[in-house]
Amino acid sequence: MSDNQPAELPEIDRRRLLALMLAGSAAGVASAADEKDESLTNSLLWAVAWKQSAAEYFALCHQAYNLARLRVDQALAKHQPGDKPLAVITDVDDTILHARSYWGYLIEQNRDFFDDAIWDEWLPHNQVTAAPGAKAFFEYCRSRDVEVFYVTNRDQGERTFEFALAQLRHLEFPFADDGHLYVFRDTSNKTPAKEEVEKSFDIAVMLGDNLNDYRRDYYVKDVDERMSLMERDHEHWGRDFILLPNPTDGHWVRAIFGDSEPAPTDENRQILKDAATRIAWGG
Ligand SMILES: [Mg+2]
Repeated sequence: MSDNQPAELPEIDRRRLLALMLAGSAAGVASAADEKDESLTNSLLWAVAWKQSAAEYFALCHQAYNLARLRVDQALAKHQPGDKPLAVITDVDDTILHARSYWGYLIEQNRDFFDDAIWDEWLPHNQVTAAPGAKAFFEYCRSRDVEVFYVTNRDQGERTFEFALAQLRHLEFPFADDGHLYVFRDTSNKTPAKEEVEKSFDIAVMLGDNLNDYRRDYYVKDVDERMSLMERDHEHWGRDFILLPNPTDGHWVRAIFGDSEPAPTDENRQILKDAATRIAWGG
C-alpha cells in the first residue's frame, strides 16, 4: 500500500457513501427517464415525421406542380401576340424547397416549437432540398418563355438576399438572379412584389404554402376569420394560387397563437392543445 492510498473508511461512512451513490444513481435514472419521455412526446413529432417520411407529402408536391403546369399551359393557349409576357410568382420556403434537416435537428434537440435562432444559424449551410416537381416545373416555364419570380420573407441580417439567392443557385433553379428574387426582411407582406411583376407580366399562376403568399388578407390573428376568408376565395385555389402543404409553420400558426413563432412555453403548449380540441367528442 502506498502512502497516497486513502485510509479505509469507517463502517458508518461506507454506509452513508453507499446510500448517496444509490440515491444519485436513482436520480440519474429518473432524470434520463424524464428526458426520454419528454423527447417521445414532443408535439412536433407527427408533423415532422410526416414531412420526413410520407410519400403522400411528396406526392402532394408533385400534384401541386402538375397542376401549376396545367395552368401555365392554359395561360399559354390563351396568350395572344402583343399580350404581356407570362410569369409565375412563387414563394420559397416549403413551396420550392424543403428544410427537412432543420426540422430533424429541432427534433433531435428536443425542441417542440420553431426556433428562429437555430433557423438563422442553419440557413447559410444550404442543407435544403428541392420540393419534388419544383425544378422540372420551373425549367418547363423557362422552356416556354414564362418567367419565374421568387418571393420570400426572411431575415438573416445584411446577407439575407445573398443567402436566399445562394440556395436557389445551389438547387440549380432557373431564373436564379437578382432580377427574379424578391426578399422582404421587415415584413411578410409580399403584395409589392406581385404589383411590381404585374406591371410587365400577366401572372399565369402563383404558388405558396401560406395563404398570405396569395393575399395579405390572410395575415389575421383569428382562426375563424381566416377560415371564412379561405371559403370566400375558394374558387381561386388550384386556379390562380396553388397551395403546397406545410403542417409545421406559417400564418395558420399565427392565427392560433397570435404569433408566427410562439415561444416554447407551457402556456403555448396549452393553446396548442386547445386548438387541437376545438372539436372533440365528449366520450
Ligand atoms: Mg413558405
